[in-house]
Amino acid sequence: MSAVPALSPTHTEKRAMLRIRCPWCGERDETEFRYRGDARRERPSAAADLAQFNTFVYERANPLGWHLEWWLHVGGCRKLLKIVRHTLTHEIRFIGSPADRPELPAEGPP
Ligand SMILES: [Zn+2]
Repeated sequence: MSAVPALSPTHTEKRAMLRIRCPWCGERDETEFRYRGDARRERPSAAADLAQFNTFVYERANPLGWHLEWWLHVGGCRKLLKIVRHTLTHEIRFIGSPADRPELPAEGPP
Protein backbone atom coordinates (compact mmCIF):
# COMPACT_ATOMS: atom_id res chain seq x y z
CA MET A 1 0.00 0.00 0.00
CA SER A 2 1.51 3.31 -1.05
CA ALA A 3 1.30 6.51 0.94
CA VAL A 4 -1.01 9.24 -0.30
CA PRO A 5 1.01 12.36 -1.17
CA ALA A 6 0.26 15.43 0.91
CA LEU A 7 -1.62 18.16 -0.93
CA SER A 8 -0.36 21.06 1.12
CA PRO A 9 2.31 22.00 3.66
CA THR A 10 -0.32 22.00 6.39
CA HIS A 11 -0.75 18.25 5.92
CA THR A 12 2.91 17.28 6.28
CA GLU A 13 4.87 16.69 9.43
CA LYS A 14 7.83 18.78 8.20
CA ARG A 15 5.81 22.01 7.95
CA ALA A 16 2.87 21.87 10.34
CA MET A 17 1.69 25.43 9.69
CA LEU A 18 2.26 28.52 7.59
CA ARG A 19 4.86 31.05 8.60
CA ILE A 20 3.79 34.57 7.63
CA ARG A 21 6.29 37.43 7.61
CA CYS A 22 4.41 40.49 8.87
CA PRO A 23 6.08 43.66 7.52
CA TRP A 24 5.82 45.24 11.00
CA CYS A 25 6.36 42.29 13.40
CA GLY A 26 8.50 39.79 11.49
CA GLU A 27 7.89 36.10 10.78
CA ARG A 28 5.14 34.51 12.91
CA ASP A 29 3.01 31.36 12.98
CA GLU A 30 -0.28 31.45 11.10
CA THR A 31 -2.11 31.02 14.42
CA GLU A 32 -1.47 34.74 15.05
CA PHE A 33 -3.35 35.65 11.88
CA ARG A 34 -6.96 35.41 10.71
CA TYR A 35 -7.94 34.98 7.09
CA ARG A 36 -10.26 37.86 6.14
CA GLY A 37 -11.25 36.95 2.60
CA ASP A 38 -10.64 37.61 -1.05
CA ALA A 39 -8.87 40.96 -1.57
CA ARG A 40 -10.03 41.24 -5.19
CA ARG A 41 -13.74 41.46 -4.38
CA GLU A 42 -15.30 44.90 -4.73
CA ARG A 43 -18.49 46.07 -3.07
CA PRO A 44 -21.31 46.76 -5.58
CA SER A 45 -22.34 50.38 -6.07
CA ALA A 46 -25.25 51.78 -4.05
CA ALA A 47 -27.40 51.53 -7.19
CA ALA A 48 -26.83 47.78 -7.52
CA ASP A 49 -29.82 45.48 -7.23
CA LEU A 50 -30.49 42.99 -4.43
CA ALA A 51 -29.13 40.05 -6.41
CA GLN A 52 -25.75 41.75 -6.78
CA PHE A 53 -25.58 42.48 -3.04
CA ASN A 54 -26.65 38.92 -2.28
CA THR A 55 -23.82 37.62 -4.46
CA PHE A 56 -21.33 39.98 -2.81
CA VAL A 57 -22.32 38.98 0.73
CA TYR A 58 -22.94 35.23 0.42
CA GLU A 59 -21.13 33.77 -2.58
CA ARG A 60 -17.43 32.91 -2.48
CA ALA A 61 -15.08 31.60 -5.11
CA ASN A 62 -12.85 28.65 -4.28
CA PRO A 63 -9.95 29.22 -6.68
CA LEU A 64 -7.11 26.81 -7.37
CA GLY A 65 -3.91 28.75 -7.87
CA TRP A 66 -2.64 32.16 -6.88
CA HIS A 67 -5.02 34.18 -4.79
CA LEU A 68 -4.96 37.74 -3.42
CA GLU A 69 -6.13 37.64 0.21
CA TRP A 70 -6.72 39.77 3.30
CA TRP A 71 -5.11 38.54 6.54
CA LEU A 72 -5.41 40.29 9.91
CA HIS A 73 -2.52 40.03 12.37
CA VAL A 74 -4.73 39.63 15.46
CA GLY A 75 -1.93 38.25 17.65
CA GLY A 76 0.48 41.07 16.85
CA CYS A 77 0.17 44.55 15.38
CA ARG A 78 -3.54 44.07 14.47
CA LYS A 79 -2.85 45.46 10.99
CA LEU A 80 -4.49 44.22 7.82
CA LEU A 81 -2.13 42.56 5.33
CA LYS A 82 -2.55 41.87 1.64
CA ILE A 83 -1.05 38.49 0.74
CA VAL A 84 -0.57 36.59 -2.53
CA ARG A 85 -0.81 32.89 -1.64
CA HIS A 86 -1.11 29.72 -3.71
CA THR A 87 -4.22 27.87 -2.55
CA LEU A 88 -2.77 24.40 -3.17
CA THR A 89 0.84 24.71 -2.00
CA HIS A 90 0.33 27.65 0.40
CA GLU A 91 3.46 29.32 -0.96
CA ILE A 92 3.37 33.04 -0.25
CA ARG A 93 4.82 35.34 -2.92
CA PHE A 94 3.84 38.77 -1.59
CA ILE A 95 2.96 40.35 1.76
CA GLY A 96 2.16 44.04 1.97
CA SER A 97 -0.17 46.76 3.16
CA PRO A 98 -3.76 47.29 1.94
CA ALA A 99 -2.62 50.08 -0.41
CA ASP A 100 -0.30 47.74 -2.34
CA ARG A 101 -1.42 46.44 -5.74
CA PRO A 102 0.59 43.25 -6.34
CA GLU A 103 0.42 41.33 -9.60
CA LEU A 104 -0.71 37.71 -9.34
CA PRO A 105 1.91 35.25 -10.69
CA ALA A 106 1.09 33.25 -13.81
CA GLU A 107 -1.30 30.36 -13.16
CA GLY A 108 -0.09 26.92 -12.15
CA PRO A 109 1.63 25.56 -9.09
CA PRO A 110 4.99 27.17 -8.19
ZN1 LIG B 1 2.12 42.36 12.60
